[in-house]
Amino acid sequence: MDAAVRQLSRLRFRNTFAALPEGFHARVTPTPLRGTHLASVSPAAAGLLGLGDQALADPELLDWLSGRRPHADAASLAMCYAGHQFGHYVPQLGDGRAIVLGEVDGADGGHWELQLKGAGLTPFSRDGDGRAVLRSSIREYLCSEAMHALGIPTTRALCLFGSDETVYRERVERGALLLRMAPSHVRFGSFEVFFYRQQFQQLRELADYVIDHDFPALRDDPRPYLALLREVVQRTAALIAQWQLVGFAHGVMNTDNMSILGLTLDYGPFGFLDAYEPGFVCNHSDHHGRYAFDRQPSIGLWNLTCLAQAMLPLLDADDGDAAVEQATDALAAYEPTLVAAYAAGLRAKLGLRDAHVDDQALGADLLALMAAGRVDYTNLFRDLAAVASAAAAPPAALRDRFVDRAGFDAWLVRYRERLRRDGVADAERAAAMRRVNPRYVLRNYLAQQAIAQAEQGDYAELDRLLALLARPYDEQPGMQAYAAEPPDWGRALEISCSS
Ligand code: AMP
Ligand code: MG
Repeated sequence: MDAAVRQLSRLRFRNTFAALPEGFHARVTPTPLRGTHLASVSPAAAGLLGLGDQALADPELLDWLSGRRPHADAASLAMCYAGHQFGHYVPQLGDGRAIVLGEVDGADGGHWELQLKGAGLTPFSRDGDGRAVLRSSIREYLCSEAMHALGIPTTRALCLFGSDETVYRERVERGALLLRMAPSHVRFGSFEVFFYRQQFQQLRELADYVIDHDFPALRDDPRPYLALLREVVQRTAALIAQWQLVGFAHGVMNTDNMSILGLTLDYGPFGFLDAYEPGFVCNHSDHHGRYAFDRQPSIGLWNLTCLAQAMLPLLDADDGDAAVEQATDALAAYEPTLVAAYAAGLRAKLGLRDAHVDDQALGADLLALMAAGRVDYTNLFRDLAAVASAAAAPPAALRDRFVDRAGFDAWLVRYRERLRRDGVADAERAAAMRRVNPRYVLRNYLAQQAIAQAEQGDYAELDRLLALLARPYDEQPGMQAYAAEPPDWGRALEISCSS
């Protein structure tokens, strides 16, 4: 057996979702894209499958991953789900352009569902063409891997394929394929579809599947479905706290884009904050700002409420009031969990070791000064690590970023007093701060530079960014330019739902 064949055959398939009955999915195979070629591979994601550096040189593996050739053991499918989009229930969504190729064992245990996005029409494509454009595929590819490196739960991305096929959006673009992976792609909307169809048997089967597949520890709970809801509440709260701390706006927090595993899922018109702007709306199509940055915590609860409602028949099939009571109780944990996670995270960003009652005010006052001066979010927190705790003149390099400089001076006096209360050595605190405040995030303009090159068939910038963002907390020599605030053209970029 040659090396190439071994790469594919070392993947062991399980196909658990395919074993569920018909209404859960539609069996479908990808429609190959003309002129498909491998554009980029994430070594970190490949490692999760036990695939080495050269694994994707294996032609058979590539044929399968790019949808050119089905694999007998893999059982490809499109998942069925519904969801609330911008607050309105849409009874039929489903994977309209993503096809689960199969589920394989992870190198270190666990399992990964491999999903090819842009793989062609499925029974759920509605008016869509089943395709994804290079631009949006690059954004999802880079951001999935960048979020993971930041320590934020997310779906992963194994590789990206370019193609010669044109896809029409507002203009003619290149089609692409993204190989996405997650332990499961089940969404809140996967539950909603069965609830609204009153298919409570299927609803139960789905919950049992999710518990057995991804939350086996809950199986022994006397109330496993309530335990599942509680777990999703907890994970979602923790996830959204992390988004807020890193300055990530998802852009389309519809319930079909909410992962039952608490992963960041479905990267569309997302954006990282450049200037700190609490009401930042990254999605140009979101006219009312429903998914504005500072609304994400409350939208998280709104979405969880949709999930809880869909789970009511599981919580208590006979007594509606009892079911509502359990759901309400589970949802009540959301806000305190999120607030506590955010508070702990903000304290860490500020380099505070002990917890004091006035820490939140200290953080909030800094954020208010940053908002008033449109100060760069990532860089300000990163550079705050260099502040000495001893009373001294404010460092000009920081002070000059604020419009209200006197306000910053006053804040700095409080901050330094607070640091001295902790009594941690400056160098030690600075090192801790640099472990939680990234130097590099996927700013829109950086993604745009990689996209512009890739559209000319050159993927060098894409790979450079992928490698850079794999180590966001390390100063990387020669890469200072990638920490720069956006140039004027980069500030004006408009990202819409079109993808
Ligand atoms: P999204 O906004 O990407 O989360 O997609 C919402 C829904 O529309 C999902 O059911 C997608 O599968 C579907 N969809 C988005 N784009 C396409 C497309 N080009 N072709 C078919 N279905 C699509
Ligand atoms: Mg989606």
